[in-house]
Amino acid sequence: MCGIFGITDNKDAARLAYVGLFTLQHRGQESAGIVTDDHGALLPYTGMGLVNEVFDNGVLGELEGRNAVGHIRYSTTGSSHIKNAQPLVLNSCLGNVAVAHNGNITNADAIKAKLQKDGAIFQSSSDSEVILHLAARHKGRSLEDTLARNLPKLSGAYAFLFMTPGKVIGARDPYGYRPLVLGRLGRSYILASETCAIEVAGGSVVREIEPGEMAVIAGGKIKFKRFAPVKRFTRCIFEQVYFARPDSVAVGRSVQTARYEIGARLAGELKDVKADLVSGVPDSGTVYALGYAKESGIPYQNVFMRNHYTGRSFIQPDQKLREFTAHLKLAPIRDVIKGKTIILIDDSLVRGTTSRQIVKNLKRAGAGKIVMAIASPAIVSPCYFGIDTPTKGELIANQLSLERIRRFIGADALHYLSLESLVEACGDRRDRNFCVSCFTGKYMEKP
Ligand code: SF4
Repeated sequence: MCGIFGITDNKDAARLAYVGLFTLQHRGQESAGIVTDDHGALLPYTGMGLVNEVFDNGVLGELEGRNAVGHIRYSTTGSSHIKNAQPLVLNSCLGNVAVAHNGNITNADAIKAKLQKDGAIFQSSSDSEVILHLAARHKGRSLEDTLARNLPKLSGAYAFLFMTPGKVIGARDPYGYRPLVLGRLGRSYILASETCAIEVAGGSVVREIEPGEMAVIAGGKIKFKRFAPVKRFTRCIFEQVYFARPDSVAVGRSVQTARYEIGARLAGELKDVKADLVSGVPDSGTVYALGYAKESGIPYQNVFMRNHYTGRSFIQPDQKLREFTAHLKLAPIRDVIKGKTIILIDDSLVRGTTSRQIVKNLKRAGAGKIVMAIASPAIVSPCYFGIDTPTKGELIANQLSLERIRRFIGADALHYLSLESLVEACGDRRDRNFCVSCFTGKYMEKP
């Protein structure tokens, strides 16, 4: 999971890229970077940490130029190291090219091995560099022709932003796993991972870039180029469940609305369960709980005091850190929970360790019974498309039965939302489906 943001033809390009990345910060906290096009010279600046830690006024002031492309990273492929921070800039026979990537190229290792055998020298361990080396070897008349020849050689998931002097190109894989949206701000075009980034930067949303489509922006104009047929629109459903900000719109549906409806559907599936209150594990669980409360008539109550300064526990790469931040993050509100039967909603259950800790903390603070309701089906298989789910062996639903998971997390009851309810609530349509491979173990292509 990463966030990308690009803007063209704007005197404040670097500052607006900063605003866009800051808005997308929930998608990755490991590194941030912006490259600008200063009269043909690509000026990159990257650093480890949050957007506001990496950039200050001085740095942004030096990033001159009217086009900018930015990236925030959460590592899935390649280690957590500054050399993997993006945008990557490569000086090759194509000239200077910058790339920012969200996703995971599943055949990157095979392509890389072949290119290295032919003499290519890679400057990072990230899979994103592969496309630049491929492009340098199989050129067309223009960068878009070159990309159109080479992007179909990649398997897996990608939303890319490329920059060369005078040009910004966005491209999305033929399944549309990862999001990429086009926006407009006066004469400027914006390409971003989520609609919220376009709107916070002051722009308005035009449309999603289609799977297998490229948007080429140069000289104040945009043209669209199809480089591959749409294989089958299979957008990652976890965007709706967890990753995207609630004020974003995905596949024509507000994320907040989809989550509210998921909560209502959970209530429908648990209509015989009696409880004193319903609550959610912040932040995403809160909207689910509100939808549940409306549908069931069970009052919503906030059972946690959330410490906002710890970061998102799921996206801390190290297991020890993850457990430690989970501890720090949520403090039960004793008065509200004492002796109560609580329906507690969380977006997903991955390893089970965070839920176990949360249930333990609630019970220790005096809660009566806890019915754990999960706003997605059981995750039984890893993601190969850019989301850092663990291996099969670490996925609790792949290893234990429902009853044993319940016992492991210490809840009095456990329920997962059905897949049918999830896809309906997210707005599944005949032509716009979602990827649900981690729930089914069935993949569109062999990983
Ligand atoms: S496997 Fe799961 S996490 Fe990965 S893209 Fe598909 S739905 Fe998203």
